Amino acid sequence: MTLPDIPMDEVIEFLVGLLNTPSPTGDTEQAMAYVEQAVHDLPLTISRTVKGGLVLTWPGDAKHPHALTAHTDTLGAMVRKIKSSGRLELTSVGGFDWHSVEGESCTVATTAGQHYRGSILPIMASVHIHGAEVRNLERKQENYEVRLDVLTDGQETTEALGINVGDFVYFDPRVEVTNGFIRSRHLDDKAGVACIYGALLALHRAGLAPRYRLDVLISNYEEVGHGGSVGIPADAQELVAVDMAAVGEGQNSDEFSVAICAKDSGGPYDLGLRRRLERLAADHFIPHKVDTYPNYGSDGEAALRAGADLKVGLIGPGVDASHAYVRTHRDSIVAVARLLAAYLLQE
Ligand SMILES: [Zn+2]
Repeated sequence: MTLPDIPMDEVIEFLVGLLNTPSPTGDTEQAMAYVEQAVHDLPLTISRTVKGGLVLTWPGDAKHPHALTAHTDTLGAMVRKIKSSGRLELTSVGGFDWHSVEGESCTVATTAGQHYRGSILPIMASVHIHGAEVRNLERKQENYEVRLDVLTDGQETTEALGINVGDFVYFDPRVEVTNGFIRSRHLDDKAGVACIYGALLALHRAGLAPRYRLDVLISNYEEVGHGGSVGIPADAQELVAVDMAAVGEGQNSDEFSVAICAKDSGGPYDLGLRRRLERLAADHFIPHKVDTYPNYGSDGEAALRAGADLKVGLIGPGVDASHAYVRTHRDSIVAVARLLAAYLLQE
């Protein structure tokens, strides 16, 4: 069996659009609508979970239904407090360290739908004013604030703009595609969503269909641990979660292969499914790396913990500097998409 070509230019275009659509966990509707629109021409039945996840079903043989999942929700923040200076203290949405957003531009989205721009700075940002003290400032929530690009002299003025505690704050994604690399925030897991999109598009264009009925959950609460707890049909036999591989010191994954995860903080993934994915990758000459991830959970784990009885695997593109300003390469995305196509077409 030869695999269909992955239309990579379209996949990258889709990915860039998705990266530029803000979707911190809890405020993902725009991104879900974007994905829904993009798959409009594919032979899929589209539905939603009550909590807002997107379920794409490619009808077919229900003898051994397969499921895939990836998530559109990303790291972000929320206004925790409007300070007497008129600046904002934030609370994090998802697990990141404050160093990774230091100096980042951001957008505050208010209840009334206004968007205000600003930047995230340490409370002692200026070397001229604070001298050596800036170096010793601890990287903790209270030591960071949003400097809004508005005329404000205090808490009341900021509140009068319509800014409130609980407003979402979007970090600028800063997307750049250069020399085959894709550098941006939020490749976790928008790159994974793009891999699934690429595989489905490739199958459809080639006049092919998954061997078994396929359900794809595009989940919206992965970064806080319960994205995959609903949305996988009860009769699914297997679930392959597509999520970023952690690239860096001590890791086997890289930005040019598909990573097949053997184990993360939730324990080992299904061995039989993993071996099958490894074999498919080898058979189709797809560059692949088996890896284990520390400090890592997935929506596959969320499905299992919610009581799903199925075999779960995890594959994904290699992402450098995860949960910070990340990067991957299109080679990694094409490798994941090709392995997904092989997996969906297998007997
Ligand atoms: Zn992820």
